[in-house]
Amino acid sequence: MASKMNCWEVKKCGKVGKCPASTLSSADGYLGGRNAGRSCAYVTGTFCAGMVQGTFKEKEKNCSVCDFFLMVKKEEGTAMNAITFMDHVKKREARH
Ligand code: SF4
Repeated sequence: MASKMNCWEVKKCGKVGKCPASTLSSADGYLGGRNAGRSCAYVTGTFCAGMVQGTFKEKEKNCSVCDFFLMVKKEEGTAMNAITFMDHVKKREARH
């Protein structure tokens, strides 16, 4: 089975280490991604499209048409949603 791609591998953004999607360790493992690499849609302050996506409202608009978001949604189906994401993050934060 092909390994699960992270956003920066698909978008080739060059923001790894700078963008919160690439550094949010409490999201590590969610949908098989590294940090929030497969859940960047649920992280504010990401650098997609060359500008900081500060609010969920902005993200909602931009992510809903993002080829990477749509690819992960297709691969993960209903497993991908904000509730399972928050649940995953809370559980990881509780362990540390
Ligand atoms: S959210 Fe966007 S800018 Fe941030 S690491 Fe992923 S592809 Fe790059």
